[in-house]
Amino acid sequence: MSQQAHSSGFLASLVHWFAPPFDTGEAPPETSERIDWGRAVPYFGMHLGVLLVFFVGWSWLAVSIAVFLYALRVFTLTGFYHRYFSHRSFKTWRIVQFIFAVIGCSSVQRGPLWWAAHHRHHHVHSDDPQDIHSPRQKGIFWSHMGWFLTPRSQRTNFKIIPDFAKYPELRFLDRYDLLVPILLAVGLFGFGEFVAAGMPDSGVTGFQLLVWGFFVSTIAVYHVTYLVNSATHLVGTRRYETKDDSKNSMIVALLTFGEGWHNNHHYYPNSTRQGYFWWEIDITYFILSFLSMLGLVWDLKAVPKRILYPKKAATPIPVQAEPIPVQSS
Ligand SMILES: [Zn+2]
Ligand SMILES: [Zn+2]
Repeated sequence: MSQQAHSSGFLASLVHWFAPPFDTGEAPPETSERIDWGRAVPYFGMHLGVLLVFFVGWSWLAVSIAVFLYALRVFTLTGFYHRYFSHRSFKTWRIVQFIFAVIGCSSVQRGPLWWAAHHRHHHVHSDDPQDIHSPRQKGIFWSHMGWFLTPRSQRTNFKIIPDFAKYPELRFLDRYDLLVPILLAVGLFGFGEFVAAGMPDSGVTGFQLLVWGFFVSTIAVYHVTYLVNSATHLVGTRRYETKDDSKNSMIVALLTFGEGWHNNHHYYPNSTRQGYFWWEIDITYFILSFLSMLGLVWDLKAVPKRILYPKKAATPIPVQAEPIPVQSS
């Protein structure tokens, strides 16, 4: 009996990967912090997909697509999932908001509402016992890739993100976020087969583009994103005194297009820019500045002079806390 209950729970976890239960915001939050292996199986399966490179070979087209999708999705996660949906550090059109929400979903890191709600919670509780991915509390493995495999992390708390949960298209993406990566995977396979049929000597195949464009690229995006939760709370330098352990790291900043300036960011999360000086390279900010010249985004928030050049030793300033009131519209 208990075995049966256990296996049906496992199956339910697998099903929830593809179609999470509809969240009315009324169910009590799940608090269990054990690893849910039903969710972990597809996650580790994605990693096994990388090993298929030894069977499908490579081509310049496959590697170029993998690099392009890495850059596009890292920018989307840092520029939009983080600096826009989590922190509202600039404004954009509703259609642009939706397009980048869709691209973000292709990273297989859930929808923008789930991602941003958890990140807002992180800023309010950073490194205190309630922080869901603090290495100070539960170690490096947990902060890197343990926390999101637990029942506690599964629910999207719309109360933390009412300002974006009011958009039905974002709620749809949040519930069916896996539709996008499935379409990406099928599209890559189909494009590879199309190229193979037209140019049989190219060495390109559908499976090759699927493995490089989807598995290799997505796993790279996974782990550079996770470094922001693990490494930049452990290793690096601190310009500002904050209540958490956030650090600045050039290596993580280069890999993540600017997220490595995490101590800057925890001290002053409201600015669009996270690299404060010219040597703090922040590729996401450069791209967002370019998009603002095109009129696609606007009202990028600057870093105030009092933050850049504090007169006395920098002390913690209050973080803009959870729910931002919904504007009636
Ligand atoms: Zn942090
Ligand atoms: Zn943040």
